Amino acid sequence: MAANLLDYDLEGLALFCERLGEKRFRAVQLFRWIHQKGASDFDAMTDLAKSLREKLKGCADVKSLSVVSQHMSTDGTIKWLFDVGAGDAVEAVFIPESDRGTLCISSQAGCAVGCRFCSTGHQGFSRNLTAGEIVSQLWFAEHFLRKHLGRDERIISNVVMMGMGEPLQNYAELVPSLRVMLDDHAYGLSRRRVTVSTSGMVPMIDRLGQDCPVALAVSLHAPNDALRESLVPLNKKHPIAQLMDACVRYLAVAPRDFVTFEYCMLDGVNDTPELALQLVELLRASGGGLSWCKVNLIPFNPFTASGLTRSSSARVEAFSDVLSRAGVVTTVRKTRGGDIAAACGQLAGDVKDRTGAVVRMHKRRGAAWPGRGLAAVTALVE
Ligand code: SF4
Repeated sequence: MAANLLDYDLEGLALFCERLGEKRFRAVQLFRWIHQKGASDFDAMTDLAKSLREKLKGCADVKSLSVVSQHMSTDGTIKWLFDVGAGDAVEAVFIPESDRGTLCISSQAGCAVGCRFCSTGHQGFSRNLTAGEIVSQLWFAEHFLRKHLGRDERIISNVVMMGMGEPLQNYAELVPSLRVMLDDHAYGLSRRRVTVSTSGMVPMIDRLGQDCPVALAVSLHAPNDALRESLVPLNKKHPIAQLMDACVRYLAVAPRDFVTFEYCMLDGVNDTPELALQLVELLRASGGGLSWCKVNLIPFNPFTASGLTRSSSARVEAFSDVLSRAGVVTTVRKTRGGDIAAACGQLAGDVKDRTGAVVRMHKRRGAAWPGRGLAAVTALVE
């Protein structure tokens, strides 16, 4: 089977070149053609020796995911649905702003964590994406946007791993894909502008800090274990105290001097002023102050199967006020791409419940099984 060169970081590509009997520096040329110029046809790579191009044609390709659908919002947001085979699809969303272009990408088809407010969690886990499938979302989006906007310079300045899946449960594929994003011969993104978002895989937070520190976001959603366990089942394995300790340890190597905590605002569940005060105390106690964290409040995009509703603007504001008055840097996330179901929490589309996760969740809560055709909810797009 031909090797997909999107699977390789620069070191991997250098080893691949060596196996072909080529010098390692050829990998740099190849890497630039693929990632900086968006080339997938070896014949177009004109500064590579013809003999190498012929070798490559016999054993390799540059194979991007195929696009199932593309939706453009009136606000400039673009959502792509990519086919990953076996009836699975993953999503990526581009969010343009005046000072940056952010791409939110997926790391898994489905997700095993099963957060109650997330449609991907409700659909169950299907499989990990390969490094090439993760990188492919960036490769496709960057080069599509350059053509679409008629620009020759970099469009995507920020990548957030907040699409489908828990990135730290796909660690072996995540790390090489991050290295491609950061490599100056590829996309050259700043470590500060690549964010991994985790629901709290404590041991892997430490490993990420050692192997490839980038900006860290944590899906917190509750200030105490009892409530968090009901929203993010992983909390049973890695309770809040352990999670906070891991975040503080991560700061020593992080490219930013803060960790972002995501907090999805769920009406009557986690949005009271008392819980806001608990959150302040938790953050203060964990970091020995409040300068080490930012809280991002996220309006929930409701979907029937969750049994949850969005907090009113007044409740979000009241919660935000408590945090801000206490000195916590707090933002309320803007909803983007609402007209194309690409806003925060609306990503996945019509999904299959492969593992019966939704049925189990509803049984747990004593609620009726709502049937298939879940409206999308997943990623937290900043
Ligand atoms: S919020 Fe993230 S970790 Fe939780 S189920 Fe959804 S994709 Fe998985």
